[in-house]
Parts: sequence; C-alpha cells; structure tokens
Amino acid sequence: MSVQNLLALNWKMNKTPAEARAWAEELSEKLAADKPELAVMAPAVALPALAAHLPPGVTVGAQDVSAHEAGAYTGEISAAMLVDVGARYVVVGHSERREYHGETDADVAAKARQAQANGLMPIVCVGEGLDVREKGEQVPHTLAQLSGSLDGVGPEVVVAYEPVWAIGTGKTATADDAEELAAAIRTALRERYGSEAQHIRILYGGSVKPDNIASICAQPNVNGALVGGASLKVPDVLGMVDALQ
Ligand code: PGA
Repeated sequence: MSVQNLLALNWKMNKTPAEARAWAEELSEKLAADKPELAVMAPAVALPALAAHLPPGVTVGAQDVSAHEAGAYTGEISAAMLVDVGARYVVVGHSERREYHGETDADVAAKARQAQANGLMPIVCVGEGLDVREKGEQVPHTLAQLSGSLDGVGPEVVVAYEPVWAIGTGKTATADDAEELAAAIRTALRERYGSEAQHIRILYGGSVKPDNIASICAQPNVNGALVGGASLKVPDVLGMVDALQ
C-alpha cells in the first residue's frame, strides 16, 4: 500500500498564539526538506499564527469543530471558520472530548460530516479504555465505536486508533497491539468504502515518542501517528521525523 505516513501533532490546550509562532519559527529553521507529511493540530486561536509561520508543506488543523453549519451555538467554532484560517484537518472524537464533554459516536459522526462538507479532512479517533482491554474486548469495542463515528461519513477521512490507557500515561501499545487494531480497522473500512479504504490513513496514538515511532509506523496497516506530549518541543518532533525517514 502506498500511502504516505502522516505525523499529526496534537497540542491539546497548550501554547498561546505567540508561543505557537515561536515554535513554528524554530521548526522552520531546523526541519529538513525531506519529511513525512506533518500537520499541527493546534488550539483554534493559534491557527492564523501557525499558518503564517510554518515551513512550506507543513499543514495545520484544529482539535474540534461544531456539528452545526452556523448560527446560535455560543462558544462553538464552525468548519468554515477553521478553513478560513488555514486548517486542512480537524480531530474529532478524541477520547478527552468523549470523556470530559460527553461526546457520543453520533456527535463525532455529525462533526466529521460537517468537516467534510466544508473540505476539511476529519481525523476520527477511536480506542478502548483499560477495562475493555483487560477483558480482551478491544477489537469489537473499537470497531463498534468506529462504525458509529463514521455514520454517513465519506472516505476522505483519517482514522486514529488511540487506546485510552496509553494516552499521556507513558504506556505505549506494542507494535503488535497497534497492528492488531489497525488491521481490524482496515477490514472494517474495506467493508464500508470498498477499494477506497486502501488510501485511508490509519494512525496510532498513545505515548508515541522518537524512540518508539519507527517500530509502530513500520506495521503494515499503520500509516502514521497522532502525538500529544512529544509534539510540544521541536527537538522531539525532529526526532520523530528522523525516525520515520
Ligand atoms: P500522548 O497523547 O502522545 O500524550 O499520549 C496522544 C493523544 O492524545 O492524541
């Protein structure tokens, strides 16, 4: 399969616009021209600074989007607004949104549809908690979540498998664990989208760092990573870029 790896950086609620600009300038000085596809998922207010100062070929994205087109939804940000400030991607259904904001699979699917309707590529996150993993039910659990989260969503999508027990904990799934789920997700995508499924990138996320990214992304069905903690410092990002070359 010939899909280019995507290294997607999820800053979460970190960095002001000024800090984002300084990070982008540091990256511009040090990033080699030859790199995997790199995208920075930043807080929405930092997107204009990033779009203006990132090196060529590095794209930006948001961490959430409203399920609505426009109107009386105080505090929400629409897909059209994100596109207007340069976003190409948006993360939907991150486990922190599901846990702290009660987002359901149906909410996630509605956000992904809204993103696609505006030309944004959704990165749909799925993955099991520790209780599910301990019962050995990670495959059916994650596939059920995927099915609900892709309801009505077209194949212009990225899927991120992020086991919740591995996010921010320093516990990484093994490369075999990541491939087990990525392969199951690929089969489900094939059933849903037919031959288009081979072009869909499946990312792994959960405590990815420079020293473990290569073995995880070498798995046949893993096409990149969604990285939280190790995305905040430019040297770590450069380490991951090097490891992927
Ligand atoms: P982490 O976060 O790399 O800090 O584990 C990953 C994520 O939440 O996307």
